[in-house]
This record gives sequence, structure tokens and C-alpha cells, in this order.
Amino acid sequence: MRYNIIEEMKCPICGQEMKVERKDVSSDSRNGKKYDRTVFHCEKCDTWGNIEVPKDAS
Ligand SMILES: [Zn+2]
Repeated sequence: MRYNIIEEMKCPICGQEMKVERKDVSSDSRNGKKYDRTVFHCEKCDTWGNIEVPKDAS
């Protein structure tokens, strides 16, 4: 499963492992490209982050 590479992310603020809050799909309105988006949340310091990987990246 290609999501495995982004299942874990360390918080840049406190260094704790961030939780995957949700996954969805976003699109760039300029070129219509689709992205798999993973949203992370640090429960310790309430920092949020997200990673968007192009759909055609394998
Ligand atoms: Zn944190």
C-alpha cells in the first residue's frame, strides 16, 4: 500500500509522533491535478500539518 511512506510524521515543534487525523483528496484548480492529502495532528502541542502527494506519483 503506497500510503505507508507517509503514515508517520514527527512533530516539528515538540518531536512527538503526529497522528493521522484524516485523509482526503484535493485538487489544484490551476492544472486540475489531484492529490492524496494526509492531515496530521500533534495531540501534545496542537500543531497541524498536511502532506499532499500527486495522484500519479507511485
Ligand atoms: Zn507537537
